[in-house]
Amino acid sequence: MVEDIASVRAERARYPTDSWGLVPTMGYLHEGHMSLVRRARSENQHVAVSIFVNPAQFSNPGDLDQYPRDEARDLAMLEDAGTNLVWTPHPDTVYPEGYATYVDIGRITERLEGASRPGHFRGVATVVSKLFNVFEPTRAYFGQKDAQQAATMQRMVRDLNFNLDLVICPTIRADDGLALSSRNARLTDEERILAPRIYDAMMAAQRALHAGTVNGGALRALVIEFISKRPEFRVDYVSIADTATLRELETVDDRALLSVAVFLGDVRLIDNITLDRH
Ligand code: AMP
Repeated sequence: MVEDIASVRAERARYPTDSWGLVPTMGYLHEGHMSLVRRARSENQHVAVSIFVNPAQFSNPGDLDQYPRDEARDLAMLEDAGTNLVWTPHPDTVYPEGYATYVDIGRITERLEGASRPGHFRGVATVVSKLFNVFEPTRAYFGQKDAQQAATMQRMVRDLNFNLDLVICPTIRADDGLALSSRNARLTDEERILAPRIYDAMMAAQRALHAGTVNGGALRALVIEFISKRPEFRVDYVSIADTATLRELETVDDRALLSVAVFLGDVRLIDNITLDRH
């Protein structure tokens, strides 16, 4: 484990021609993160993981303060998985006194998470750019769980000519369908039992699409109604959008990204699936 940027660079420089896979995380690791680490392990000679709860991507200070952390457990999991380098920087290392440079990505960040969490993607794009510059990875691994983040990173890598491949990995779920997330740790026992309703609602939309409901509005309404049957949920948004541009669709001709953000108690959960008409 290293803290400062010079140590990361020194470690990277010891193997300049080898392939490096980078997995950026905010810690409190679970099987979703570990699936990225294993994929990176299988495709690269070295694997680096960053653990950094990035203040710049939190618009709500309470959410930042309550974000779960357990560095000792994370490090043990990463060591077991054969991680070569773990970076756990202090916020002052990433954003020293006088820090003033931010990466703003256009249209694709304006809706959904970008609309609900102003400044979120600016924070993500800024810190990931810095990670790419510090680690110079051959490949970087992101989860489809954060679909808009994955699409935004693809846009950024193309637009800013980062010299690496992005690998987007499938969402890992609990047996009852709930997408694994560090935030699940903040759910009460009762909320945890209700939480798979999000996945059930998305599956109901997939079935409706197969049965002929192709209207985006009708599918959105179905998901909202399914989730809202339980008053413990408050729907932030339900979106049925083009998988590449994330623009809302009136009709699902082929495939669409169904993404959902809900509050369950005071925990905000997001999830998505790709709807397929055929
Ligand atoms: P986070 O620590 O929440 O910032 O997540 C770090 C990376 O792990 C991101 O690329 C996420 O999309 C990915 N990730 C988080 N949860 C899952 C999951 N359940 N399945 C697959 N990837 C995930």
